[in-house]
Amino acid sequence: MTENELYAEAMRQYGYEAQLCKLAEEASELSAEACRTLNHSTLERRLAGEIADVEILIAQFRQTGMVTLIDARKSEKLQRLANRLGVTYAEK
Ligand SMILES: [Mg+2]
Repeated sequence: MTENELYAEAMRQYGYEAQLCKLAEEASELSAEACRTLNHSTLERRLAGEIADVEILIAQFRQTGMVTLIDARKSEKLQRLANRLGVTYAEK
């Protein structure tokens, strides 16, 4: 099974709503771990684990038909970031 097939299977077995709830849970865990990192009370390995958890859930949602919308919003936000930074951004 490929990585993309694994994401699709997780969404199929657990369902959209359960995975949306899991995304919220994992995003909260990432938020907490980011604060612990700033307070020097956690290990980089734990932060990396929480980032990975969120990336895995995001990858599942990209496959639910949201990929075009996510990419469009991401493009807008990257352009806005470039503008704030005063740099030129060219999409690949
Ligand atoms: Mg987690």
